[in-house]
Amino acid sequence: MKKYLLLLVTVFISMVATSQTSKDVKRHQFVNELLAKMTLEEKLGQLNLPASSDFVTGAVSSSDIAQKVKDGKVGGVFNIRSVTKIKELQEYAVKSTRLHIPLLFGMDVIHGYKTIFPIPLGMSATWDMPLIERTARIAASEASADGIQWTFSPMVDLTRDPRWGRTSEGNGEDAFLSSAIAKAMVHGYQGDDLSAPNTIISCVKHYALYGAAEGGRDYNTTDMSRVRMYNEYFPPYKAAVDAGVGSIMVSFNEIDGVPASGNKWLVDDVLRKQWKFNGFVVSDYTGIPEMVNHGVGDFQAVNALSLNAGVDMDMVGEGFLNTLEKSMKEGKVTLAQINKACERILLAKYDLGLFEDPYRYCNEQRSATEVFTAANRAEARKIASQSFVLLKNNNNVLPIAAGKTIALVGPLADAKENMTGTWSVGADNSKSVSLLKGLTDAVGKNGKVVYAKGSNLEDDAEMQNRQTMFGKDIIRDNRSAEEMIKEALAVSTNADVIVAAIGEGAESSGESASKSNIDIPEVQKRLLKALVATGKPVVLVLFNGRPITLNWENEYVPAILDVWFAGSEAGDAIADALLGKVNPSGKLSMSFPQNVGQIPIYYNHKNTGRPLTGKWFSKFQSNYIDVSNEPLYPFGYGLSYTNFEYGDVQVSSNALKGNQKLTVSVDVKNTGAVAGKEIVQLYIRDVVGSITRPVQELKGFNKIDLAPGETKTVSFEVTPELLKFYNGDLKFDWEAGEFQMMVGPNSKEVKAVKVNWSK
Ligand code: BGC
Repeated sequence: MKKYLLLLVTVFISMVATSQTSKDVKRHQFVNELLAKMTLEEKLGQLNLPASSDFVTGAVSSSDIAQKVKDGKVGGVFNIRSVTKIKELQEYAVKSTRLHIPLLFGMDVIHGYKTIFPIPLGMSATWDMPLIERTARIAASEASADGIQWTFSPMVDLTRDPRWGRTSEGNGEDAFLSSAIAKAMVHGYQGDDLSAPNTIISCVKHYALYGAAEGGRDYNTTDMSRVRMYNEYFPPYKAAVDAGVGSIMVSFNEIDGVPASGNKWLVDDVLRKQWKFNGFVVSDYTGIPEMVNHGVGDFQAVNALSLNAGVDMDMVGEGFLNTLEKSMKEGKVTLAQINKACERILLAKYDLGLFEDPYRYCNEQRSATEVFTAANRAEARKIASQSFVLLKNNNNVLPIAAGKTIALVGPLADAKENMTGTWSVGADNSKSVSLLKGLTDAVGKNGKVVYAKGSNLEDDAEMQNRQTMFGKDIIRDNRSAEEMIKEALAVSTNADVIVAAIGEGAESSGESASKSNIDIPEVQKRLLKALVATGKPVVLVLFNGRPITLNWENEYVPAILDVWFAGSEAGDAIADALLGKVNPSGKLSMSFPQNVGQIPIYYNHKNTGRPLTGKWFSKFQSNYIDVSNEPLYPFGYGLSYTNFEYGDVQVSSNALKGNQKLTVSVDVKNTGAVAGKEIVQLYIRDVVGSITRPVQELKGFNKIDLAPGETKTVSFEVTPELLKFYNGDLKFDWEAGEFQMMVGPNSKEVKAVKVNWSK
């Protein structure tokens, strides 16, 4: 019987494999037949990706798109915000061009399409992969209903620098967590079948190391060792590739002195040869011509450099379109290279099913009934509340009990346009729920909400403008700061609790939004200090797209709830958390520094030869005179309305050999009065290595639900696979020796057990 079953399974597997291969042969055959009919001009047209002027995300946009389409000079267009327009342009492309090749329509669908979820940094604080995958699934189904077939997401640029504005778009500082998120997002967008009308191609970005920009200044130079690249910065991109991501975007920065847009080692050697990526590579917005400014050649030369490196599609630059023919004639690029790039783009179109039906994603009925639906919004509200991180909660100020009078104060309280945060291209911000609306609705007759704005976002109008562009305006109040504070204090007089909605504007983070000072803006801080001085309990509801410096706030404000930019349903979701309908469970995916001088600060650092072993300050040890080495809030940190007690860490064995498996487990008990979720974290330290190893690395996490009084045993399985790293020769393997298994509620409060693992 067993034998028979085995035979059946083998036959089934080989049938699946054969049908996969024949599917692959078919798609290549189709595309190659098409390629054979194409002129050089038509091929170059496929490599060209202009931007629509609907929503401009870079310094320039392309003109005359329709004419170019007609001339066969366009392979795809991005950021068109309407199914009718997309359908019209698709029809135009299919009908007016010689070979009737459909266009690829892309968009920056970053954290939702019209139903907007928390910014990615906030989503990463959920540590909840099914939930994260679900956001991408909903985003794909909404975007595809509106004609979009391709999204420039996920962004997985690891960063250790909160000054960098694009911190908000990524998953924080850890490769393990970010890799899991990359995989979940790719699955969410692409599903199992790209040709289904509700799945879209994902584009992992920005390959590579963009988050390591010097000084946190956007587009700036990066420089690091290969060992660090492979072990720390590359894994999330690779995880997306392993998950089958269809496309990848190269970054603006240079790597080893060669901009990523023209870096053959990066694209051809690592991505294609080592990682076996077989999708297509797109440049970032004018990333190719910007190589002229980098100083690696003139317009023609940088375009040849880019194609030679393995980039297939030119976003906005139009240099592939206008220079590659000349470069080919001069022997600087080959026809084979142009064919290859074109083939990869056509294969993507084939996989989407566009040759079968160019209008597969242009279904006005779906657009009218499946986008921004009540069901999607209800899910977004629930998901948003999972991203909040409770940073402090003295005397259980939160949750706010029923029947109280709540004074809601702050420039972000009644700012619905800001709730979706940066990169919410498809959103209609006028439909987002503000905190004032959400809280007032939730309190209803069960208490009272009184409101005052309290301050502007920034004292300086120009500073405010820079942080509230793209329809994220916060109307300026012309009264003086003193007058506004006075009003806020008057409104708060009869309140039982003050909720201060304070922090950054939506566009304070995101692209080209780097900051050298990451404090709460001064004018808001003054307001907060005045509110705290009343002696009433104050809850700081913090809006932010990056870790910010909160020393004063941490010391003097009794409760702090970090809500990031929680999306279109933010106001309702925040109210749910403030009133205790939802118990916050998010944990930070990025360390919060005490001050800017500590940056870069990250939990998985190296030990150095003179680690601070005793108390800060210790002479001749690696520490600062004026600030300790500790972050204000460490990676993995976040509180709950209940308490969790961790038992001792148990290991199945202290001595392991070869491919044996180790079980690391811990009992976690909910010792409080309400149910809660806890994210239990496993860290490993490889004590001795052929190259130095970090003091700890996240290697597992488990989010559990615990009823009051309930205990659960959380177990992690450790295999040598988890112990592998790239050594000095960039060989990926593990080394025998001593390892510390650490488990805890965050990266700092861990209990450790030693094990020995021999080969
Ligand atoms: C950004 C990308 C984005 C692209 C298209 C660029 O400026 O760096 O992240 O996908 O624009 O909007």
